[in-house]
Amino acid sequence: MQIKENYLLKKLNTFGIQAIAKYFVELNSIQEIQEIIKSSHFKNNPYLLLGGGSNILFTKDFDGIVLKINNKGKEIIAVDADNVFLKVQAGEVWESFVDYCILNNWSGIENLALIPGNVGTSPVQNIGAYGVEVKDCIEKVEVLRIADGEIIELNNNECKFGYRNSIFKQEAKNKYIILSVTFKFSKKPTLITHYGDILKELENMFVTPSLENISNAIKNIRRCKLPDYTLTGNAGSFFKNPTVSKEKYEALLIEYPKIRAFPSGNDYKLAAGWLIEKSGWKGKSLGNAAIHHKQALVLINKGNATGNEILALAKAVQHAVLNLFGVELEMEVNVV
Ligand SMILES: Cc1cc2nc3c(=O)[nH]c(=O)nc-3n(C[C@H](O)[C@H](O)[C@H](O)COP(=O)(O)OP(=O)(O)OC[C@H]3O[C@@H](n4cnc5c(N)ncnc54)[C@H](O)[C@@H]3O)c2cc1C
Repeated sequence: MQIKENYLLKKLNTFGIQAIAKYFVELNSIQEIQEIIKSSHFKNNPYLLLGGGSNILFTKDFDGIVLKINNKGKEIIAVDADNVFLKVQAGEVWESFVDYCILNNWSGIENLALIPGNVGTSPVQNIGAYGVEVKDCIEKVEVLRIADGEIIELNNNECKFGYRNSIFKQEAKNKYIILSVTFKFSKKPTLITHYGDILKELENMFVTPSLENISNAIKNIRRCKLPDYTLTGNAGSFFKNPTVSKEKYEALLIEYPKIRAFPSGNDYKLAAGWLIEKSGWKGKSLGNAAIHHKQALVLINKGNATGNEILALAKAVQHAVLNLFGVELEMEVNVV
């Protein structure tokens, strides 16, 4: 374990923002994580946990220690007639893990293919896509409690999962380091094909639904719709889809009959991309930051954007949507 000084973070965040960490350390085991929290570097400095850097926006250099969580390993801990239970270390790469499950014919996360980031970060915002949220496959999350160094387990309920939300983004933020996640997968696949263009893409591919085919269809759709972050810096959807009351939705519907929304309990969730597009920002730039021309929810780095340029654009979009629709857009990305 080596603590590095003045470490460049540009290649460690998918926005490709130039930022420097005063201290940086890569932690390859739980033992190293336990060791670092006892160190003076950790005790005397602010700290930041970093996985794949795909849901983070650096607006300044980080004047503290960045802990890159990199512990690897996958272990089957139980199998029954219908399910397999897997304990997966936080530093495993999510995309490879999805492919590994498909290869073994374990079902549950195939619709979450091609989402960047680490397994250990998947519970933080309860990643979701194409009709699936990771919370539905999570049994428990193993964490290190920073206050006393104890390793404890939180069950699914204790994680307080919600739409792009969990205890790790709320009251437990900066209190726990996620060490591993235990998943429950089905050995008898339940295929979810009703969402978005999955069926259409399967048809285009001349294949029938299977775990592998669904995942490949989703990969195709995502590659077509989203910019490749290795070429154009971005963090996927920058904003959450806002939830409004039935009354607010009905009022908006009178004024905007084509508004895109879907029921969510007693409320309605509005498609944030539609709101941004209608407020005139799709494809527009502010300095070196822009709204992607195909997907208005995605903010991109046109080359040399600073985090503050991206943030200024995000705020301009929030302002425009609030002015036009009276709806507040909440950022999904973690701003540092
Ligand atoms: C092109 C693209 C497409 C995307 N598509 C989707 C999508 O479809 N659905 C979706 O939900 N998300 C999507 N995302 C967002 C992102 O991939 C996910 O949120 C992912 O889970 C973030 O993982 P990460 O390891 O990169 O997290 P990071 O960005 O490294 O960290 C995210 C947050 O978690 C904290 N954190 C990191 N590690 C730990 C740990 N071990 N313990 C506790 N806290 C920790 C960090 O401090 C930070 O606050 C997309 C991003 C991109 C770039």
